[in-house]
Amino acid sequence: MQLHYIGNASVRSNSERTIPVIDPSDGQAYDEIQRGDAADIDVAVRAARACYENIWSKLSAAERGRLLMRLSNKIAEHAEELAAIEQRDCGKPTKQAKADAAALVRYFEFYAGACDKLHGETLPYQEGYTVLTWREPHGVTGHVIPWNYPMQIFGRSVGGALAAGNVCVVKPSEDACLSLIRVAQLAAEAGFPAGAINIVTGYGHEVGDALARHEGIDHISFTGSPRVGTIIQQVAAERHCPVTLELGGKSPQIIFADADVDQALPVVINAIVQNAGQTCSAGSRLLVEQSIYEKLLDRLGGTFENLRVGPAAMDLDVGPLIRQSQQQRVWDFLSDAQVANIPMVAQGQVVDEAPETGYYQAPTLLRDVPVDHRLAQEEVFGPVLAAMSFKDEDHAVHLANATHFGLVAGIWTRDGARQLRMAKRVKSGQVFINNYGAGGGVELPFGGMKSSGYGREKGFEALYGFTVLKTVAIKHG
Ligand code: NAD
Repeated sequence: MQLHYIGNASVRSNSERTIPVIDPSDGQAYDEIQRGDAADIDVAVRAARACYENIWSKLSAAERGRLLMRLSNKIAEHAEELAAIEQRDCGKPTKQAKADAAALVRYFEFYAGACDKLHGETLPYQEGYTVLTWREPHGVTGHVIPWNYPMQIFGRSVGGALAAGNVCVVKPSEDACLSLIRVAQLAAEAGFPAGAINIVTGYGHEVGDALARHEGIDHISFTGSPRVGTIIQQVAAERHCPVTLELGGKSPQIIFADADVDQALPVVINAIVQNAGQTCSAGSRLLVEQSIYEKLLDRLGGTFENLRVGPAAMDLDVGPLIRQSQQQRVWDFLSDAQVANIPMVAQGQVVDEAPETGYYQAPTLLRDVPVDHRLAQEEVFGPVLAAMSFKDEDHAVHLANATHFGLVAGIWTRDGARQLRMAKRVKSGQVFINNYGAGGGVELPFGGMKSSGYGREKGFEALYGFTVLKTVAIKHG
């Protein structure tokens, strides 16, 4: 049985209730986590506050950096173990689980180096004054994390917060939290003081809600769905607690007729099948210039048919979805497509070895999806790609911006002037030209426009969000 990790100790939930841990590859329970509640959050916040006041805030930035680097090294030593935990918990194919562990190592490495590079300024002001700014940590930060990339999102969110001088209370998803409990244990082994990283598991409406409401939480970093993002904002607004929101997306891949299609196609496929399509930045809409639409869909369809789906440990192209309700969600989208007569171009195959009780979904390519259909508007969060054609640049921009989201966009063209025009006109927090995702890019600020959220995580930029700027004006005559 898994326990909370609070103040460098494993503790049971106050409620003594638990939640089963299900393996998405076969739908069977294999462990239990604690079903925390407000009382557990309160214990964690107290542990964090004591750590902040007595130890963490007294460390120099360089000392914090050394601790983060020790944790990065510790995670690297345990990367295989962590990848195996995440693989079973989330149903990730081996290569994805390993990539996630490697990204976690890199986040702590990056933020270890960033700790002592964050500084304020002196400002020109009236004669007789010296004016300084410096950046102070919020204090105790709360982190609500989804199930799709627990290690990566913990790395970018908690890594940045710690580097900026905060201590953290983390609420992972009830569907995937085992790796984060282990990382917190490794942090203790690496020398982190008790209370610097606390993990409280349980349901969102119980533990997550209690975290967002707790007076002792000074800042909330939320990564998850737009629906819950709204709830978190409303709860946090009651006590004016600052929030960073990393929400969903319906990101377009825009392919012009002059693009290098050989280069684009494998990237387009990976961007929708990676993590079984359960990625906030999944390239889930494919916009193709009319003159190459038919030919491109033909080629893409051929590749989709060869994609194989199966248990995580088989390390195929696609693993299972996280849970039965997610599978049902994808089925509902596909049956809506059928009702609307949206043509299916191709579908991959679920292998015979996949247990009936697992949550599998073959990657599906749909075409001529109307711009106002929910398949072109809402996050499916499964391996479903919605293709449509465009006439010209203006039309491409119109379609690209025709959703409430604005997280990521991919633009494929050899025309340099068009690359820049499109990058300016497309509303999204990240734009990739002739690539998509740039290999993850721990260094690259990430976040949304519109309903994809606000605030930035990743990169040095995240440190500004995890701090408050103070202005100090000294009158000396
Ligand atoms: P979710 O919103 O259902 O849950 C996210 C987290 O919020 C979980 O830990 C959950 O327990 C918690 N939660 C649920 N209700 C809550 C409440 N009332 N108060 C406080 N916390 C609550 O999202 P999910 O299904 O776990 O993840 C998928 C979503 O996350 C997708 O929309 C995806 O796009 C988004 N996401 C965004 C990013 C990004 O960086 N923009 C990254 C990954 C995932």
